[in-house]
Amino acid sequence: MSVITRFAPSPTGFLHIGGARTAIFNFLYAKKHQGKYLVRIEDTDSKRSTNEAVQAIHDGLKWLNIFPSEKIIYQSQEIKSHVKIAYKLLEKGFAYKCYLSSEELTLLRIKSRENGFPIKSPWRENTNNSNDKNFVIRLKMPSSGTTTIRDLVQGEVSVNNEILDDMVILRSDKSPTYMLSSVVDDYNMGITHVIRGDDHLNNAFRQIQIIKFMNWQEPSYAHIPLIHGSDGLKLSKRHGATNIFDYHKMGYTSEAMFSYLLQLGWTAQNENDFDLKKNISEFSIEKINKSPARFDIQKLNSINSKVLRQKNLNEVLDLITQHFSLELKNIQKKRLKALLPELLKRINTFIEIEDDIEWITSDDFVCTDIDNLLILKDKILNIKEISILLNKCKWTKDDIDNCLKQYIMDKSIKFKDIGPALRVALTGKTNSPDIVTVIYELGCTITLNRLNYTY
Ligand code: GLU
Repeated sequence: MSVITRFAPSPTGFLHIGGARTAIFNFLYAKKHQGKYLVRIEDTDSKRSTNEAVQAIHDGLKWLNIFPSEKIIYQSQEIKSHVKIAYKLLEKGFAYKCYLSSEELTLLRIKSRENGFPIKSPWRENTNNSNDKNFVIRLKMPSSGTTTIRDLVQGEVSVNNEILDDMVILRSDKSPTYMLSSVVDDYNMGITHVIRGDDHLNNAFRQIQIIKFMNWQEPSYAHIPLIHGSDGLKLSKRHGATNIFDYHKMGYTSEAMFSYLLQLGWTAQNENDFDLKKNISEFSIEKINKSPARFDIQKLNSINSKVLRQKNLNEVLDLITQHFSLELKNIQKKRLKALLPELLKRINTFIEIEDDIEWITSDDFVCTDIDNLLILKDKILNIKEISILLNKCKWTKDDIDNCLKQYIMDKSIKFKDIGPALRVALTGKTNSPDIVTVIYELGCTITLNRLNYTY
C-alpha cells in the first residue's frame, strides 16, 4: 500500500512553527516512501477561518519549498460527505440523536465534573423522540473495554473506554464537527499515516471509534511532541516569534529553517546536511524523541550562518537585494558580492548586513557616527599618511597589505593603533571585515576619497 500523508492546518491564524514542522515531517515521510503528501485546509469553522490565514499557510509552506503532490483540499467543500457519514452511523445504530436542551446539558456537565465520568446523554438509550428538530448527533462510544493505539512515536497507548464521551459529530445546525470531518476526509483521501502534534492524541482515541464503526482501514498514527521554549514551557510569543513567516522576515533562509525544524527533537541527522535528497533518505519517524523539543534560537542561528556560507554568492546577493529592495548598479553589486564572503563570516542572518550596505554601495559615503568620528579625528594624520602610501601602491591585496605593514613598522606602532580609525574612515564602523579586503574592494578612488575627506 503506497503511503499517503497529509498536513491539515486550521486557517485561524498564521502558520505556527510547530505546524510547519508537522508539514515537513509529513512531506519527508511521504517522499521517503515514494508516496503522496497532501494538504487539507480545515476551514469548516467559518467564524474563525480567514482568507488571510489560508494565505499565510500557503506563503509559509511555499517559503519552505514543500509542495503537496496534489491540489489542496478545502474541508468546507467536503461537508456533504461528512454529513452523510453522520447519518450512516445513526442508521447503523452507532450514533444517536440527542435532544438535550442547553440547560439540561449544563446540569449534566456539572454532574460529570462531580463524578469524574464523561457526559452520557439519556438519549443514548431513548429513541422515543417527540419533536425531530432540535437535535445533535452523538457518537455512541463503547463504555467498557480499552482502546489501544500503536503510535509510531508514542508507542502503545491505551485508554479505558469509559472515559470517552459521546461526542457530538453533527451539530443542531447540521454542520459536522471537526472530530467527524477530519476522519471522513482522511478516509476519502486515502490517508495511510496521520502525523500530527501530540495535542491530538486524545482526539485519536475518539476518532478511531468512527473508523471502527465504519469498518474502515485504520491509519497509522504518529503524534509528535509539541515544541517548547528554552524554559520548557509550551512555545509561545514570550519565547520569540512563533509565526514561521516571521523568520523569513527576520532574514533566515528557508533551508536553515527547514533543516532546523527537521532536527528539532531528533538527533539522527547530520546537522550540516541541507541537502533535501539526503534529508528524505535519512528521515525516520521512529527516531523522533517522545519528549518535547526545545526551540533554540542559537542553534537556528548557527545553522543559518552555515547555510549562508555554503550558498552560492549570487543567491545570497539576490536575497539581500530583494529583502532591502536595493536597486544597485553593476559596479555596486560587484563590490557587495566581493565583500560578502568576509561579511558572512561574522553574521547569523543576512539582515545583519543592513548597516554595511551603505558604505559598500555608496560612492560618497562618509562616517556620521559622532563617537567613531572622535576615533578617526584622533588619528587623522596617520590616515592621511596612509592614503599617500596607498596612492603609490599597485592595487593588489598583497601590495595593500605590505603597504600597511610597512607603515606600521616605519612608525613603530601596532596595527591596533591605526586599525580602528582606518575602519571608521572607510566603513564608518570599528568592526568591519578584513581591512585589506575592504580597501581592495572599495578601489583606489573611493578609498583615497574617504581617507582624505575633511570632517
Ligand atoms: N486542524 C487541526 C489543527 O490545525 C489538525 C487536525 C489533524 O491533523 O488531524 O490542529
